[in-house]
Amino acid sequence: MEVFIEPIGRLMNEFSKLPGVGKKTAQRYAYRVINMSETEAHAFADAIIGVKKRVHFCKICGNFTEGDVCDICRLRDSGTICVVKEPKDVIALEKLHEFKGVYHVLHGVIDPMNGVTPNDIRIRELLARVQEGNVQEVIMATNPDVEGEATAMYIAKILKPLGVKVTRLARGIAIGSELEYTDDVTLARALIERKEI
Ligand SMILES: [Zn+2]
Repeated sequence: MEVFIEPIGRLMNEFSKLPGVGKKTAQRYAYRVINMSETEAHAFADAIIGVKKRVHFCKICGNFTEGDVCDICRLRDSGTICVVKEPKDVIALEKLHEFKGVYHVLHGVIDPMNGVTPNDIRIRELLARVQEGNVQEVIMATNPDVEGEATAMYIAKILKPLGVKVTRLARGIAIGSELEYTDDVTLARALIERKEI
């Protein structure tokens, strides 16, 4: 006999799919849901379905958006493109209120050990954006780990012949760390003091 009746066990199983949620936390979350009013439970479930239905990738930068093109791409200076690994890196940089350009989300970095080649991430799309002209600078803001550095170098090499300035976030972010976990002051300084590569 199962310890938990099926509907509770099923909900716990779903919660345990979330990052950082172990069995005990999943149980705590499931019991909290049981104590919700029907209205609360519906709002909770609706929010989950809502992100799946309404959140898409911006067709220009690859960041999350509700429409076809995100507000950053629609409203900001497209002469400077900041290249990041994931959508959460856009949030880390936007929180600084320092960068006024647009982004390009690669959705990964080159990682041959795990079978990720340049064709598997959005490098082609970046190249097309730069080839359209009007881009003066591409800032490589991938994480300062082995894959992030290698990806920055690879992209710099293919963009340079196009006559665009390619820069890299300055050192100061701990090697091997992620933008997301870098404090704002350090990240802002790394952005301001970026160096041409
Ligand atoms: Zn966009």
